[in-house]
Amino acid sequence: MGGRDATMVLLDENGIRCDGRKVDEPRRIMIKAGGLKNADGSAYIEFGDNKILVGVFGPRDVHPKHMSNTDTGILRVRYHMEPFSVGERKNPAPSRREIEISKVIKEALEPAVMLDKFPRTAVDVFIEVLQADGGTRCAALTAASVALADAGIPMRDMVAAIAAGKVADTVILDVNNEEDQAGQADMPIGYMPNLEKITLLQLDGVLTPDEYKKCVQVGVDGCKIVYDLQKKALQEKYFGDGGD
Ligand code: ADP
Repeated sequence: MGGRDATMVLLDENGIRCDGRKVDEPRRIMIKAGGLKNADGSAYIEFGDNKILVGVFGPRDVHPKHMSNTDTGILRVRYHMEPFSVGERKNPAPSRREIEISKVIKEALEPAVMLDKFPRTAVDVFIEVLQADGGTRCAALTAASVALADAGIPMRDMVAAIAAGKVADTVILDVNNEEDQAGQADMPIGYMPNLEKITLLQLDGVLTPDEYKKCVQVGVDGCKIVYDLQKKALQEKYFGDGGD
């Protein structure tokens, strides 16, 4: 962030980004519901060059028991990056970044999941990042929502996520790794389209008030695109078509 690589052309004179996209164009997104036979629900997502697998287990008993809540179920999320998921081998030990992202995703999912229907139990969400290329928290959150729905966990809405950002003083949709490294701002957004509620909003970088508003708008519009693909993935699994 903050223009570390001044030589990289992030936006050319024709408004084309370093990976050939237009400013408001998301990367290619492919979502598959299901796939893991031993999980209660699962999903796989490719979001540009990000590749992420999510398994959901539960509602199930909580061990140790004192961690359970008699009034409500609890959601537990583990975001984990494979050592081979990035160019330089990542230390397999849980990093502060993975702990932070696990917490952020958990808090972004909680408003959507009807945990009060399952007192004393836990729903576990395991996120495995197989390949990372910027925006893994958004891709993981998107896939986790589909995996929870696939597990039959009652939800108020699904959470769709994508990042908005700023490169070359221009607001863009869906920030890739180079744009994250060398750009001016990165704003991951999680959004429940039916309830029209934002459940995740982070900002790394500096924006003017107008740019901030524009990023939120561009991000929310992007989430609606992601949401359609989430629904398609579930329709494909359960009705054998994409709902068209
Ligand atoms: P997000 O993946 O949600 O954008 P960050 O902004 O923290 O989260 O990370 C941006 C990108 O930096 C990741 O998607 C990944 O491609 C890369 N990255 C993260 N951690 C490492 C690491 N330990 N080694 C190399 N690259 C990493």
